[in-house]
Amino acid sequence: MIVFVGAGPGAADLITLRGQNYLKEADIIVYAGSLVNRQLLDVRKPGCQVYNSAQMTLEEVLQVLITGEREGKKVVRLHTGDPCLYGAVKEQMDALAKEGISYVVCPGVSSFCGAAAALEAEYTLPGISQSVVITRMAGRTSVPDLESIRSFAAHQATMVIFLSTGMLPELQAELMAGGYEPETPAAIVYKASWPDEKVFRCRVDELAETAEKNQIKKTALIVVGRVLEGTYQRSKLYDPAFTTEFRQGEKESGQNG
Ligand code: SAH
Repeated sequence: MIVFVGAGPGAADLITLRGQNYLKEADIIVYAGSLVNRQLLDVRKPGCQVYNSAQMTLEEVLQVLITGEREGKKVVRLHTGDPCLYGAVKEQMDALAKEGISYVVCPGVSSFCGAAAALEAEYTLPGISQSVVITRMAGRTSVPDLESIRSFAAHQATMVIFLSTGMLPELQAELMAGGYEPETPAAIVYKASWPDEKVFRCRVDELAETAEKNQIKKTALIVVGRVLEGTYQRSKLYDPAFTTEFRQGEKESGQNG
């Protein structure tokens, strides 16, 4: 059997129990060495073969997965965060399916959640933003024209930007061209949940300067939006006057009804 496992954002105890059980039972682990914490591998059983996919091509990874599966071994493909975001998993899944090999996916804590925890932030604050845009700047991987930073910025929603720490002058210019005021709160979260995690809060127009000053070049997320500021409306869900499936409100006010 082949399992794609989300490793979580970095801290070795931020993998799911299910994911860790798969690691304990694995005969072969192929892990994304550029971002996965190697400590996660400490639970592996003696004799487990370990491969670092950072030094491998897709074809080489597939060969290890497919050969292992054909030999009846338990194979784990360990991806950083959750495999569904920028994980290059679909191409692996499709190649396995073509060979008639089945697989399962075990989710993980994405780094955008790790970053929210580091910031003590709620990305969806009533009256401020109820949406989170997860995106990236175009790099060697292109981004469809309809998904430009500028077009998303026009919504003024919360944005979490992956894989773009090396392009911050361009990123901040695009964010402002799209409609964020220069003073909109922003943050750079470096290595969320790792022991050397760092959080820098700034304004949108200070992103590039802040990263430069603190020598942040990779493994960071950029968070932008007024949810980082602190003014918002309280929730309806926990309002004494609000009736839900689980709780009768004291009295339905016009405002909440
Ligand atoms: N699947 C992963 C993302 C992989 S893309 C997830 O769900 O998190 C790799 C990018 O994710 C990095 O360039 C960086 O932008 C971000 N990233 C991954 N781990 C991170 C962490 N611990 N802290 C901040 N950013 C991180």
